[in-house]
Amino acid sequence: MPAAALTDFSRLCIHTITTKPWSLDEAVPRYAAAGVKGITVWRQALEGRDVTASGRLIRDHGLSIVSLCRGGFFPALGAADRAKAIDENRRCIDEAAALGAPMIVLVCGAVPGQSLVESRRQITAGIAAVLPHAQAAGVKLAIEPLHPMYANDRSAVNTMSQARAMCRELASPYVGIAADVYHLWWDDTLETELKASGREGTLFAFHICDWRTPTTDFLNDRGLMGEGCIPIRQIRGWAEEAGFRGFNEIEIFSNRLWSGDQAQFLENIKAAYLNYS
Ligand code: ZN
Repeated sequence: MPAAALTDFSRLCIHTITTKPWSLDEAVPRYAAAGVKGITVWRQALEGRDVTASGRLIRDHGLSIVSLCRGGFFPALGAADRAKAIDENRRCIDEAAALGAPMIVLVCGAVPGQSLVESRRQITAGIAAVLPHAQAAGVKLAIEPLHPMYANDRSAVNTMSQARAMCRELASPYVGIAADVYHLWWDDTLETELKASGREGTLFAFHICDWRTPTTDFLNDRGLMGEGCIPIRQIRGWAEEAGFRGFNEIEIFSNRLWSGDQAQFLENIKAAYLNYS
């Protein structure tokens, strides 16, 4: 049975990339004025800015910083490139700490021409390498399984079950999972997997948007909730049955929606959040 409809915005978080045309200076007051309670900051939104001051700006507007997006991209064909990725992830952790973000979302990476098994091995090794740094900084790492259409070039982690296997191997309270309905809605084991993740204490984050048919762009044609086929409310119910009490994070990459009026889009997000999430 699907969960009851959401009736307020107390758990509503928006990713800055969702309103990409807005700078952080514009997005933060507008989210706050709209009653949004959480924000996940994409690193692009911090380029050229004082990160510590940006965190202060966000908190001064009463918003909770949910995550910094994103780290990861660990696999590479050569050892030098893998080491570079590890350095970059350490920088990302430092940035999260300066911002005051308690968590980083990991898009784990994949390399065309390298087996998924080897890429997963390198991802696990990469996370293990940065884990002491993350722990020292008090920043958690959330592995985000990506839809299998990205398996060859963006992430070799494509299911909850693969992400859970990594969490088991890494066995740290600082490593968990960001479950995104866009990537996982098709999986017939999703309910079981979310609940297992909840039991294991690794369900760190929950991302929502919708899947449009036809999808005209692999990356930038996500839908607003209600525009597609994902049973978002049902999946949210499973996450809540699994014990998840965190933010429902709106993460929409859409050339179509970015090209429109962002203030109107923000209002549409709020309506869709209550009606379809
Ligand atoms: Zn996501």
